[in-house]
Amino acid sequence: MTRDDLKRDVWQAIDRRRDEIIALGEQIRRHPELGFKEFKTSRIVEDTLAKLGLSPRSGLALTGVRADLAGRAGDGPTFALLGELDALVVAGHPDADPATGAAHACGHNAQIAGLLGAAMGLIDARAAAHLAGRLVFFAVPAEEYGDIEWRVSQARAGKLEFLGGKPELLRLGHFDDVDLAMMIHTTARPEDGKAGVPGSNNGCIVKTVRYVGRAAHAGGAPWMGVNALYAAQIALAAINAIRETFRDEDTIRVHPIITHGGSQVNVIPGDVRLETYVRGRSVEAILDANVKVDRALRAGALALGATVEIETLPGYMPMHCDATMAAHFKQTMTRLVGEEHYRQIGHRTGSTDMGDLSQVMPVLHPYIGGARGSGHGADFEIADTALAYVAPAKALAAMAIDMLADGAAGAREVVGARPPMTREHYLSFQRGIARREVYEA
Ligand SMILES: [Zn+2]
Ligand SMILES: [Zn+2]
Repeated sequence: MTRDDLKRDVWQAIDRRRDEIIALGEQIRRHPELGFKEFKTSRIVEDTLAKLGLSPRSGLALTGVRADLAGRAGDGPTFALLGELDALVVAGHPDADPATGAAHACGHNAQIAGLLGAAMGLIDARAAAHLAGRLVFFAVPAEEYGDIEWRVSQARAGKLEFLGGKPELLRLGHFDDVDLAMMIHTTARPEDGKAGVPGSNNGCIVKTVRYVGRAAHAGGAPWMGVNALYAAQIALAAINAIRETFRDEDTIRVHPIITHGGSQVNVIPGDVRLETYVRGRSVEAILDANVKVDRALRAGALALGATVEIETLPGYMPMHCDATMAAHFKQTMTRLVGEEHYRQIGHRTGSTDMGDLSQVMPVLHPYIGGARGSGHGADFEIADTALAYVAPAKALAAMAIDMLADGAAGAREVVGARPPMTREHYLSFQRGIARREVYEA
């Protein structure tokens, strides 16, 4: 059987499950959960994979679910298809969970629908008989790097070390036997077309910052206080001032928020907290910008005579997409949506923990459309359920065939090149980022 014949059978099987795949995507959209807390969503994944006859393992890095499907046409590499489980807090999103504020404003619900749809099609069409090596269906937690105070508390309690899902799964060894991986992210950007592959993405490091001043009566005796909010404001202004020193080609992004700005209005703020990322195109550029951001943060404390505690946490590594995998994906999407709707996307300035995987194995992180509004915005919504939920299922399944059919010739070609880092080097690099500084003016 040729790869094209096998794809046709699998796509027909996916078409027969079309309503079920769309219903899964919509069900998850209506029950958004934050990273490392995706218990209901991971239960849906586990139940669906078990119904297909697979033996899913759950609770990986708290909420991840993994099921393996062995190819029956010989040995070969292990190829993981991923879907991200988490939502994020977006004020004013109409689907937001009233208790947590979580909303699927990044379209990860479509990733899970696509992942499960791919498993359905491949299993219904008995594709494993024609595949070598092994396929992994892996629903992964916590791609969005937020809710940081809670995650830090989980880390202190020994339940996490890294605060993102894929780094934590890497640490725990759940990718040790995986040779290459891909996922498909939904896009709402018209310029991405119906499908496209970015060349690369920014990486980031993450900072939590606390200014400690001295509380005092804001009306009666403000001179007794040390205003931690003003210290933070000066730091934010200093960060804005250093932006002109960032080189365009480094695509630095620094975007701090105040997470706690004071206790009540008649008290001079004695405790103010910030969070920020420092993003950039290369590790060197990120570390260089980070030195400047730290200097700006200290400046606020210096001006007011406050203390600043700067906690720097490992974030996500820059991502590079594998060109051979991208070429296969383009062929598939040309068949599914037409070549005129396919885009080669350049460098993206967001960050993803798929970047971490890309340091240790070949990965592909393409986009498929079907959403509208702005990503992470209150107006983000799924507009075309067939494109958002069903097309990714077909594309993932086709990539499984392209990589693992014909004795896994496709995957063998991809895994031939040595990745930038070994897994041990990756873990020690990320651990080396973690640092805590207390600067007293
Ligand atoms: Zn996102
Ligand atoms: Zn996302």
